[in-house]
Amino acid sequence: MIYYPEKYRIADKRMQPFIDPDEIWDYINKVKADKQGVRDVISASLDKKRLSLQETAILLNATDPGLIEEIKEGARTLKEKVYGERIVLFAPLYVGDLCTNNCQYCGFRSSNKDTKRITLTSDELVNETTALIDQGHKRLILVYGEHPKYSADFIAETVKIVYSVKHNNGEIRRVNINAAPFDIPGFRKVKDSGIGTYQIFQETYHEPTYKKVHLGGIKRNYEWRLTSLDRAQEAGIDDVGIGALFGLYDWRFEVMGLVRHVNHFEAVYNVGPHTISFPRIQNALSLDISKDHLVKDEEFVRLVSILRLAVPYTGMILTAREPAHIRDQILRFGVSQIDGGTNLELGGYSKGKAEAQDLSKGQFQINDNRSLSEIMDELIGKGYIPSFCTACYRLGRTGEHFMEFSVPGFIKRYCTPNALLTMAEYLEDYAAEDTKNTGYQLIDKKIQELGHDRKVEKLKEKIDQIKAGQRDLYF
Ligand code: SAM
Ligand code: SF4
Repeated sequence: MIYYPEKYRIADKRMQPFIDPDEIWDYINKVKADKQGVRDVISASLDKKRLSLQETAILLNATDPGLIEEIKEGARTLKEKVYGERIVLFAPLYVGDLCTNNCQYCGFRSSNKDTKRITLTSDELVNETTALIDQGHKRLILVYGEHPKYSADFIAETVKIVYSVKHNNGEIRRVNINAAPFDIPGFRKVKDSGIGTYQIFQETYHEPTYKKVHLGGIKRNYEWRLTSLDRAQEAGIDDVGIGALFGLYDWRFEVMGLVRHVNHFEAVYNVGPHTISFPRIQNALSLDISKDHLVKDEEFVRLVSILRLAVPYTGMILTAREPAHIRDQILRFGVSQIDGGTNLELGGYSKGKAEAQDLSKGQFQINDNRSLSEIMDELIGKGYIPSFCTACYRLGRTGEHFMEFSVPGFIKRYCTPNALLTMAEYLEDYAAEDTKNTGYQLIDKKIQELGHDRKVEKLKEKIDQIKAGQRDLYF
């Protein structure tokens, strides 16, 4: 079987399909989840060990309500102990919705022939970026359909345009990508444009289901998709984001698939993925999928908690697909990044806040319409530290999540101070007066909690410099 063009084949373990469905089902069907076993696995995770497939299956098979509570509690403890209260904020920016694929769950699918397709012009891209900068954003993920027009050169060009926009005190400091996979030279071109993370979701790790829901286009090729981030790694992109679209197949299989993907990266490239995403299917124009595997809210909380424990060092992303009350709840179980002020309409940010969403104008329905400023207010009110930090990426400190997790004191020395500095910038440039007051109270409290040393003195100096008009200060 040809998994990717012959000329890019490398005769070793790299870029080989790594999902064995029988192995996964064997774990799910045969592994027992007794009380002691579940507790041992939770404590292994709290000792900062990435879980094996067998250990993950123990957590998946725990159905006793008391044990499920212990798993959730474990995830909460891990999040608090390891990552603290920081939440990184970003926004998606849709660049173009042309698409030659026919994915049954997506509003951009090629069989939706009557929708007006849009690709932002350079000027429109500048306007969208400016509108996002004016909300206070510093980190974007650019999103594209799969189409010959969205070549590696095109994507690289759009990344450069976004980085070039400056407005008042603001600019975008990190551009991530969610787009179709390329061959190795294509990934290299995109890397050279200065991207942060390249994110590609496998959608489902279950091949028969994959074939059933991908009806046309290049994306139909399961192996091409499965090995896509291997090609990214070969091209030098070691900062990758994986994900599964929950609701296509049994959620337990997808969790095992994600963990298998992680240990494939660890084994072959010696680096885990930067982020894991776990979108649940939302309504979309001509949505046409079976409802058999839709994930209920309580299963969703379980699966997020299990993923947190299974891969304790990786960032976890929760998007505005989920309604505010679910986002607020799930945040405690280990999520590290959320989007704010999201608008999926092509060109929608420059038009102002999205009202009722027209399904023909976005990829799928979002359920959290809060503006970035509303989300900032809520995070600050609950004592989270909203962060727009991009320091590690810009200083070449790659593998930052791993460092946060494994280098003692890294969060205290770098992440928390940098989060507070970017929060102060936000308060100065974009916040209403009362947010500014409560925000600075939180900053003072967090600085006190950091104790007294030279680093904290330096942090206080930098906050004063930001108040005096300097920007982009970090450790
Ligand atoms: N065209 C690129 C691709 O397919 O990789 C970009 C992906 S798409 C613009 C981003 C992600 O949105 C998809 O990978 C899929 O997981 C998710 N998505 C698509 N339809 C969805 C729906 N109805 N509900 C929730 N998420 C959806
Ligand atoms: Fe196209 Fe991606 Fe939507 Fe599939 S998920 S139809 S590839 S935009």
